[in-house]
Amino acid sequence: MIVGYGGAGAVTAIAAADAGANVVVLEKNPAGRHFCNTNVSGGIFISPTETEGAFRYLKACMGDTVGDEMCRLWAQETSLNKDYVADLARSVGEPPQIIRCAGAEFPGLPGAAAISSWALAAGTGGKLFSVLDQCVRARASIRLEYGASGRRLVQSADGEVLGVRALRNGAVISIRARRATILATGGYEYHEQLKANFLHGGPRYFYGPEGNTGDGLLMAMAAGADLWHMNAASQHYGMAYKNFPVGFNLANFRPFPRSSYLVVDQHGRRFFDETRNGHSAYSHFVFFDPESGACPRIPAYLIFDESLRLMGRPLSASKGLNGGLIGAAAAKHGYFWSDDQSREIERGWIMKADTIAQLAQAIRSRQGPNDVVIYPNNIRMAAEALVGSIATFNEYARQGNDPEFGRQAALLEPLATPPFYATEVWPVGPNTQGGPRFDTRGRVLDAYGEPIPRLYKCGELGSIYGRCYTGGGNLAELLAFGRIAGRSAAGEPSGAASRVGR
Ligand SMILES: Cc1cc2nc3c(=O)[nH]c(=O)nc-3n(C[C@H](O)[C@H](O)[C@H](O)COP(=O)(O)OP(=O)(O)OC[C@H]3O[C@@H](n4cnc5c(N)ncnc54)[C@H](O)[C@@H]3O)c2cc1C
Repeated sequence: MIVGYGGAGAVTAIAAADAGANVVVLEKNPAGRHFCNTNVSGGIFISPTETEGAFRYLKACMGDTVGDEMCRLWAQETSLNKDYVADLARSVGEPPQIIRCAGAEFPGLPGAAAISSWALAAGTGGKLFSVLDQCVRARASIRLEYGASGRRLVQSADGEVLGVRALRNGAVISIRARRATILATGGYEYHEQLKANFLHGGPRYFYGPEGNTGDGLLMAMAAGADLWHMNAASQHYGMAYKNFPVGFNLANFRPFPRSSYLVVDQHGRRFFDETRNGHSAYSHFVFFDPESGACPRIPAYLIFDESLRLMGRPLSASKGLNGGLIGAAAAKHGYFWSDDQSREIERGWIMKADTIAQLAQAIRSRQGPNDVVIYPNNIRMAAEALVGSIATFNEYARQGNDPEFGRQAALLEPLATPPFYATEVWPVGPNTQGGPRFDTRGRVLDAYGEPIPRLYKCGELGSIYGRCYTGGGNLAELLAFGRIAGRSAAGEPSGAASRVGR
C-alpha cells in the first residue's frame, strides 16, 4: 500500500511490483487533475560519477544530521540513477537520452567533483513523471486509486501497521496492507501551523502544487515516528501574494544584461548578493533581529527600474537548466506572469513610482495590514535609507565592483531609468525536507530507533537532506530510496498478523 502518487510513490510502486507484490497506490488528487511536485519539477537528478567522492560531499553537506551508513548508501544507490531512468524510458518507448545539467551546488565542498546532475533530454519533471507513470500503468499488479486521501494509519495493539483509513468521495474507507504501508505524500509546504512551528522565520512560502499538506507527516507522528530534518527546506527568494494560492519562482532570475535590480530589507538596506538565488538563499532572509524582536528581511523588496521591467520576459516562471519551464503550479491556476510585468502592476503586486523617494513612500504605506501581502513586523522604511542604498549600489555598478557583497561586475547595472518598481520577496521554494526518520531499508523508525513494523516512507517526506539541500537531490533520493523501499516492503512476510520489527 502506497499513500501518495508523486515520483516517490511511482518508483516504490514499480520496485515493489517488480519484486512480486500487488500494489495499491492512493492519490488524493482526482484523475486528470493530478499535480505533484515531481511533475512540475525541473526533472534534474543527481547521479554521481564516483561513490567515495559522493559520500564525502553528502557528509560535508549534512554535517552530523545524517550518519555515515546512510550517506554511503545514498552515494552508492544514487550513482545508479542515470542508467535506471534511461532503462525505464526505453522500456516504455520514450527517448532514453540523458543530458548533463550541472555539477555540485556547493563546488567548494570535499568530493564535489563526483557530483553530476542529469535530466531526460526530452523534457523536465513532467516528462520524468510521465515515464514513471507509463511504467506504473504497464504493470498489471499496480492499482491506482485517485481521489483517495489517506488520513490515518491503522495499527495493532503492539504498533504493527495494518493499513490505512482514507477519505474517498466523502466516505471513509479502510484498506488493509498485507505486507507494508509506504508513506509518499510529500512535504508540509501548505500546512501553515507545521511551517510556523518547524521552519525558522516566517511566513515561508512554496511554489509547488498545494496537495502537500503534511498528511503523511501527521500519520507518521501519530504512529510514533521519530522526526528528522524538520527545520530544513529548499527555498530561494521569490514572490507570494495574499490573494494567490501559490508562490512564484525567481530561482533562475539572472536578467543579464538587464541587471538593474537589487534587494533591500524593510529598513531599505541591502544584505547579500542578489544574483545568487540557490536552494539555500532563504538563509539570508530568516535573520531574526534580537534587538527589535522582528525578522526585518521577511519580506524584503526586489527593487528595479524601467529597463528591467521591459526586458521582455516575466520576473517569474524560470527556465530549468535543460530549458523547460519550472514552477508550473501558478500555471496550473491559469496564471502566466506578463512579459512586461504590466498585469502584476495592475493587480497591485508590483508598486510603481517616479522617484526612489516616492517608491520608499509606497513601500512604507504598505508596511502594515493590507490586502496584498501579510506583514509580520511593524518596521517602517525611511525614504533616505532606500535613496542611500540605491545611490551606493549605482556607484558600485558604475565602478564595476561591489565591495560589500561581491556581486559580479557583469551583473551590476545602475537603476537609472525611471519609473522605479518594488515587490515583496520572501523565502519561497519548492519543498520542505523534514519528516519521519528512516533506516537503510526505508523503514520508518520510532523515537528509540526501532522500526515501526510494516511502515516505510519515501521522497521529500522525511528526506535525507538535513543541514542543507543540494540541487538535484530530492529526485535523486526518491529514485534511489524508492527502489530500496519498494523492494524491502515487498519482502515483508504476507499477513498482517505476523510479528516483525520490535
Ligand atoms: C517547481 C519545482 C521544481 C523542482 N525541481 C527539482 C529538480 O529539478 N530536481 C530535484 O531533485 N528536485 C526538484 N524539486 C523537488 C522535487 O520535485 C520534490 O522534492 C520531489 O518530486 C518530491 O517527490 P514526492 O513523490 O516525495 O512528492 P510529490 O511529487 O509532491 O508527490 C506527493 C503526492 O502525494 C499526494 N498526497 C499528499 N497527501 C496525500 C494523502 N493524504 N493521500 C493521498 N495522496 C496524498 C500529493 O497529492 C502528491 O501527488 C522541485 C520541486 C518543485 C515544486
